[in-house]
Amino acid sequence: MTRRPEQEAYLAARMLELLTRIAVGRRKCKFCPAMLYFVRHADGAIVSYTDDGTNHWSNCPEAEAARRLQAILRQKGQRKLLDTGPIPE
Ligand SMILES: [Zn+2]
Repeated sequence: MTRRPEQEAYLAARMLELLTRIAVGRRKCKFCPAMLYFVRHADGAIVSYTDDGTNHWSNCPEAEAARRLQAILRQKGQRKLLDTGPIPE
């Protein structure tokens, strides 16, 4: 389905408004310049999304490096530092 540019802009604005309303927090990605919106799923998991509604783990350019670092931190018993939630106030 091809959308006209004004439809794309409308949908992008609606997605950003939705994310802003439902996010439990937001912050920049620790690995790239993307702004992340943290959304709590029905199963309780908190997942980071970018402003286009994409799960950031699927499009962060540094996702593989972040997964490796998270595995190392988990092995060391350290608190997960990555996209598990907004930075505590
Ligand atoms: Zn990122």
